[in-house]
Amino acid sequence: MIVDLRSDTLTRPSREMLDAMMTARVGDDVFGEDDTVKALEQQIATMFGMETALFCPSGTMANQIAIKCLTNPMEELITDQTAHVYRSESGGIPFHSAVSVRTLRGERGKITPALIAPEINVDSITAPRTSLVVLENTVNWGGGSYYTLAEISEIATLCHANALKLHLDGARIFNALTETGDLTINYGQFFDTISVCLSKGLGAPVGSVLMGNGELIKKARKIRKVMGGGMRQAGFLAAAGIYALDHNIGKLKADHHHARQLASALKGQYYVKSVMPVDTNIVIFEVAENYQTATLIRQLDRHGIKCLEFGKQRIRFVTYLDITQEMIDETIMVLNKLELPEKSSGN
Ligand SMILES: *Cc1c(COP(=O)(O)O)cnc(C)c1O
Repeated sequence: MIVDLRSDTLTRPSREMLDAMMTARVGDDVFGEDDTVKALEQQIATMFGMETALFCPSGTMANQIAIKCLTNPMEELITDQTAHVYRSESGGIPFHSAVSVRTLRGERGKITPALIAPEINVDSITAPRTSLVVLENTVNWGGGSYYTLAEISEIATLCHANALKLHLDGARIFNALTETGDLTINYGQFFDTISVCLSKGLGAPVGSVLMGNGELIKKARKIRKVMGGGMRQAGFLAAAGIYALDHNIGKLKADHHHARQLASALKGQYYVKSVMPVDTNIVIFEVAENYQTATLIRQLDRHGIKCLEFGKQRIRFVTYLDITQEMIDETIMVLNKLELPEKSSGN
């Protein structure tokens, strides 16, 4: 049995999802003639209480388009130092938008009005104008930590008072909502733009959606085109997204349960120094100093368990739709029987 815990992007479309894709009505979406893409865009915008949306090939593209729409060159945005938009999108912010980034040290990737406020530049000839705040929910590098809507509301108030725009990288927003119980419909009022990944825990093979008001999305559509992201019969992919929204949101709860089981199995293992709190579907743990991360990963791989090195002496497990209870049990069994050599002194 192979248990691949490297990422929730590894989901494969189910038989039922493939059926929905195969029978989708499609057209040329660059001409605005794909009814399935339009249906997906309308469905998700309505869910979040936003005007409209744009189907994008990736979350990276959706985020980068949002940042380009919400800023001008020479301005600055504020986000946490671990934000995906900053550290995992290949330097896209300066490349696409000619904008600088002010990074904050949030608590497990979560920033607050108290952290943001002093970092807003006052208007001057020398300082870049601060124009945007970017939040991530859940926070990947925070080990799947999440904001509540109440916390978001306070940040939105600060942004509003300072004429700052607010973008949500909601790649895993449904994982956050599964825990907080907040409703999607209440999100739209707080953000100028929201991106959501369909190809992570929700199980679609490809695609993210960017939401915003009509004028912004019109501009976003143009920017998607200049980035080469205008897709033709994309309805086959959008159909998977619609299927995911209709059927897979409720299944995230099981992923969170699986993640907590993995975390408790890790705690107390001789090769584990500490395990980050598990809030959603991500488990990050620190490997004890006496053991090599690479060796641990190799040993797990030999037993069919795949995971990612996530910073120095750290490993990440992610649970998702295709990870079954049987696979979790198997992983726990392997974790319990691992025999690792100690690092030899002097290397
Ligand atoms: C996965 C992810 C994205 C988007 O990634 P793509 O691979 O470009 O779809 C954006 N933000 C966060 C926090 C993510 O985890």
